[in-house]
Amino acid sequence: MAAADKRQLNPLDLYDIRSELTEEECMVQDSVARMVDEKVLPVIQQHFENHTFPQELVREVADLGLLGSSIEGYDCAGLNAICYGLICQELERGDSGLRSFVSVQSSLVMFPIHAYGSAEQKERWLPAMARGEAIGCFGLTEAHGGSDPGNMKTHAKRAGDDWILNGSKMWITNGNLADAAVVWAMTDDGVRGFIVEKHMPGFAAQEIENKFSLRASVTSALFFDNVRVPNDNVLPGVVGLKGPLSCLTQARYGISWGVVGAAQACLNEVLSYTGDRILFGRPIAHTQTVQLRMADMARRITTAQLLSLRLGRMKDAGTMTPTQVSIAKWNNCRAALDIARDARDLLGGAGISAEYVPVRHMLNLESVITYEGTETVHQLVVGKELTGVNAF
Ligand SMILES: Cc1cc2nc3c(=O)[nH]c(=O)nc-3n(C[C@H](O)[C@H](O)[C@H](O)COP(=O)(O)OP(=O)(O)OC[C@H]3O[C@@H](n4cnc5c(N)ncnc54)[C@H](O)[C@@H]3O)c2cc1C
Repeated sequence: MAAADKRQLNPLDLYDIRSELTEEECMVQDSVARMVDEKVLPVIQQHFENHTFPQELVREVADLGLLGSSIEGYDCAGLNAICYGLICQELERGDSGLRSFVSVQSSLVMFPIHAYGSAEQKERWLPAMARGEAIGCFGLTEAHGGSDPGNMKTHAKRAGDDWILNGSKMWITNGNLADAAVVWAMTDDGVRGFIVEKHMPGFAAQEIENKFSLRASVTSALFFDNVRVPNDNVLPGVVGLKGPLSCLTQARYGISWGVVGAAQACLNEVLSYTGDRILFGRPIAHTQTVQLRMADMARRITTAQLLSLRLGRMKDAGTMTPTQVSIAKWNNCRAALDIARDARDLLGGAGISAEYVPVRHMLNLESVITYEGTETVHQLVVGKELTGVNAF
């Protein structure tokens, strides 16, 4: 009997998380997994190598109801938080770039329009965005310091019925693809959200090239030179940093699930590779140190899965807090990045080849651990919760 036949548990789901899911949650996971296997995996490495976004997959994710999936109405699927997490997990098993596209569209653009937008803004943008006919981006970070968004220089001044927007944003996912950018800018009343449309004079997006990470995703700098934005394009429902921060909480939640998918893809690859790789007369999977390293990957994946599942149940119950999201984002990104790096090493020289997934996931995860709050930022959020002292 082959060694793999003696396994009793799914190595990528040792605590049988699957048995905790409802029928609908299983169905969502299976349909996204199928789409990733059939449509994403065959093309993603080429897109990564070519530094191109797989635009052809926008239709696929839209048709499956993955854009704005948590929103009820407006042609959105109205799924629960666990479903959104599973969507992120399966997409990121394919590539963090595609998951980033869906996270930004859903959590950072459709969420604030739904939560804080006017009736007209919701009608105009949400159905089109759910169908993938309109693409959005989220502009918060500025070049002088993404971890400190309170120090925002981009500003808007009232001019009759309009606003005049000036400034710039950096590292903006989907920037060059976007029909509408949700841009956060300082006003006399505090931070406000503006829906800036791509045709507005004075608005420009410039793609950031030569990235070694998230190469199958578009990342841009945005520039606003006296852009006249009608007051109808201001999100009326929120003032202050709590607007963008509430969006980040949604996206960070999804990321905590997403990176589990990347880690699972890496463990899957090393399980297969080390079983076949014969060194010193036996498969390296039969040595103690290789087993120890793979056991450690499985332990960390299991821990990450349990954190995200519990977080999702709390999100659906309405009790999830930003600190709890920080713990999961921090833990799971760190686990996934360490797993990807170790998986790369377990493949030896082959680990640097595009033929195998770990190096692509490893490079992607260097962005994922940085964006949506760096590891340090999340540690300081938890430190503040523990001590009551803001140490930023
Ligand atoms: C591929 C990619 C896509 C992105 N997409 C978007 C997007 O769509 N929209 C958007 O708005 N932003 C986006 N970002 C920006 C991202 O959120 C920022 O890069 C991130 O918040 C960090 O900001 P920064 O790069 O300016 O680093 P900095 O804030 O300059 O941080 C530099 C270092 O200082 C550390 N640090 C920060 N504060 C402290 C402190 N108090 N004590 C000790 N150390 C500290 C950080 O942890 C980090 O290690 C994206 C970034 C990348 C790489």
